[in-house]
Amino acid sequence: ESNSSEPPREVRNILMNIDHNETLRLPSIVVIGSQSSGKSSVLEAIVGHEFLPKGSNMVTRRPIELTLIHTPKSKEEYGEFPQLGLGKMHDFSHVQQTLRDLNLAVPESECVSNKPIELRIYSPNVPDLTLIDLPGYIQVTNRNQPETLKDKIVELCEQYIREPNIILAVCAADVDLANSEALKSSRKIDPLGLRTIGVITKMDLVEPETGAAILRNTDYPLHLGYIGVVCKPPANRNNQKNITSALIQHEDQFFRSNYVYSQRGIQVGTGTLRRKLMEVLEENMAKSLFSIVGAVQLELEEARYQFKVQYNDRRITAESYVAETIDSIKHNFKDFAHSFGKPQVRHEVRTMLEQRVLDLCAELYWTDSKVVDLPKVSADDLYWHYKLDMSSAALTKSGIGRTSTQLVVDVLMANMEKLASMEPLNNHPDTSSKVLNFSNEILRHKFHTTADQVENCVKPYKYEVECSEQEWADGVKRSITLLEKELESCDKALHHIRNTIGKKKLRAAIKYVLDAEKEEAKRKDTGDSNNESNTHAIPPSALISSINDIMEGDVEHNRLHFNPKVLEKAREAIFLRDRSMILKYRLAALKSRQCKSPDNKQYCPEAFLNMVAEKLTYTAVMFIQVELLNEFFFQFPREVDNRLIYDLDRKQILSFAKENPHIRKHLELQERKRKLEEVMEKLNYLVRRQRDIEGRKGPT
Ligand code: GDP
Repeated sequence: ESNSSEPPREVRNILMNIDHNETLRLPSIVVIGSQSSGKSSVLEAIVGHEFLPKGSNMVTRRPIELTLIHTPKSKEEYGEFPQLGLGKMHDFSHVQQTLRDLNLAVPESECVSNKPIELRIYSPNVPDLTLIDLPGYIQVTNRNQPETLKDKIVELCEQYIREPNIILAVCAADVDLANSEALKSSRKIDPLGLRTIGVITKMDLVEPETGAAILRNTDYPLHLGYIGVVCKPPANRNNQKNITSALIQHEDQFFRSNYVYSQRGIQVGTGTLRRKLMEVLEENMAKSLFSIVGAVQLELEEARYQFKVQYNDRRITAESYVAETIDSIKHNFKDFAHSFGKPQVRHEVRTMLEQRVLDLCAELYWTDSKVVDLPKVSADDLYWHYKLDMSSAALTKSGIGRTSTQLVVDVLMANMEKLASMEPLNNHPDTSSKVLNFSNEILRHKFHTTADQVENCVKPYKYEVECSEQEWADGVKRSITLLEKELESCDKALHHIRNTIGKKKLRAAIKYVLDAEKEEAKRKDTGDSNNESNTHAIPPSALISSINDIMEGDVEHNRLHFNPKVLEKAREAIFLRDRSMILKYRLAALKSRQCKSPDNKQYCPEAFLNMVAEKLTYTAVMFIQVELLNEFFFQFPREVDNRLIYDLDRKQILSFAKENPHIRKHLELQERKRKLEEVMEKLNYLVRRQRDIEGRKGPT
């Protein structure tokens, strides 16, 4: 729809896109006039349609920025409110109603608002013009309007009639020009009348000689002159949609019937007005052109300089950024996948099962007071055979499938979270959570089959675990390492307590705790036997007093020397000391000849359980690798393609790229530079054309 013969509108649109820079403004025509001066009628005559709301009340409460767009190739005529998005309006009474509504939406108390209504009219019958219709000047304020309204309107109009705008001052012929508010205002801002066109309406209401005198412009001269019009359409025009032809015919007849109007130096008629407006606008555009070219040139140079300095003239696109980002997500993932294979999974599962073995040994063996004598018991002692079966079952039947799979899923998700929080995903929170969501989804999808597979494959171990000499020897070695590590951490913890509390104090506290425990045990014994039989030798009263002695006497007194925290530490130290001692015993046993053969497994439960754990680890890892890891590593990059970039539209791509602040800045500067270059090109064209026009004018 762009019309190459009229670039100003395009330039105007582009300038508006760049920013609202005061220097980058093209001239518009601003229409001012008193109420009832015929302002609306003139505008409608130019447009060729009745579209302005009328009424006795003041109806224009907001400026209307009216852009007329000449569409020579199309018969279609319609209005459009770009701010409202209501689409094309072919019925101009609909435009009229919309304008009325928009005006009435301004609260009564405010009366006028300086927020302009944008209206575009497309038609083959309009010239390319930008007109601004302002609220009419009022002489008398009525009862409901605030006193300040008059000033408010004057102020609003003055705001619009500044340079480089052209002022269309509408005055009625039957009102003395000396009283014209429009001329008063324009003279204030444009005292030499260089930018003002006088439009004298209602020429039919004055005698031809009077009318001609006004148009000759001797009293209030204007550089651009006065144009007389008659904008009252004849009464019998109902059948005509387009009011222009009827109006012009009527007007033509009027001016032709009076010879004075055809004298030299007198301008009359709506057609003349239109031509004049276009001419003046173009001329002023040419004048403003020079300063605009300068301003745009400056801005363009600045944008180019910044682009060079900041980005070394490197052009980017949102699309290429998206592609790079996706590549780098996949690349990071690949790196991770390479670093997380079977050995890493095995390490994770083994560490978990070893911890479980330790817990089982502690629970079932090391806290059993009989374990000290274990190396010496008979080989047929059922107690220890039974205990070994129990602990083996506790290990194999603990739901290895679920726990090992869950463990690996957790490790994978932790890594995915790391991936999601680093470059490039750290700039894209939504995408980041999408990645985590579908990672989770893939893993969840695979979880049950994997867990079930593992569980199925460890099933035989629930009944029997056989082992070779080598496997046994490995088990012994592993268990020794494990116990040595445990012993080391026990000793370390003990050391730490000793250091924080002090050797002596700790020893005293330990002694105190042990004594108190002994007393407690004794007391319990007495208490229990008392409960068991009421016929105890000690009379109840004596018993009570002896208990009171214990409670309030020495014990209570001593307790004051240790705060509860120290006692707590002492208890911990006792535990660690006992644990350390038993570990030393067990290590000695594991290193003894007795544990050299799997036949003596009941004497070496730690080695046996470690051997079982190793077998479980092996089996679990094998299936986790196949069912979970491989699937995940295969599926993830495909989901990246499917869920992150598939069917992204241009807008989404752009907003994704702009989530990255660096890219955003880069793209915006690049875009600004491009727009300025485009404007510059159009301006250069206008400058050339202007030179051509002036060149043609020159010789005459
Ligand atoms: P506005 O308040 O300045 O917009 O004035 P309008 O355009 O609404 O016109 C005010 C009144 O003057 C209306 O009744 C019009 O019909 C009438 N009017 C406008 N132009 C002419 C004209 O050229 N001749 C005559 N006789 N009446 C006109």
